[in-house]
Amino acid sequence: MLMSGFFLKVFNKCFNQSFILDEITRRKDRKTMTTKILSAGDIIEARCTKCREVLNHRIVAMVEGKVVRVECNTCNGVHNYHAPPAVKAAKEAKAPKKAASKPRLTSAAPRASRRDPVEVEREEWASLHPTFDIEKALSYDMNARFNVKRLILHPSFGLGVVKAVIVPNKMQVLFKEGIKLLRCHCL
Ligand SMILES: [Zn+2]
Repeated sequence: MLMSGFFLKVFNKCFNQSFILDEITRRKDRKTMTTKILSAGDIIEARCTKCREVLNHRIVAMVEGKVVRVECNTCNGVHNYHAPPAVKAAKEAKAPKKAASKPRLTSAAPRASRRDPVEVEREEWASLHPTFDIEKALSYDMNARFNVKRLILHPSFGLGVVKAVIVPNKMQVLFKEGIKLLRCHCL
């Protein structure tokens, strides 16, 4: 009896010790749990819609690991979770960076190089027009001889400037409507 009483004492001592150890590990687990994964009932910082301040809130509802609804510890109001401004600002700061890194399709450049050549010619004529001296313009005559840069007056195309002479009998003339190929006497 004395022996069994002794063993009982030892057994109780061991049991108590193991129980205490178990309780310590359980407390440790709980502590790490709260820092890592949030769950309903936990206290977190959130912006209160009524108090208009960042205050401690108790998590009321969570969806897919994200806090959805919280209860304010100050006013006890239950509302949707609003992240504190610091967290929100950090999230927003990251977002534009992602958008900026995305390659943008630039269709303006190829379109510019593929511009209608007639349109370019018309613009050139418009830019040259103020320099034209009508007094010096020669009336167009298919049997006359014209030099490059010669200003001519055509009955239907109007004022134009000779851009190029193509031997033996043609010339390129820039008119308001664009470059026209006209007959001339080049030789
Ligand atoms: Zn509140």
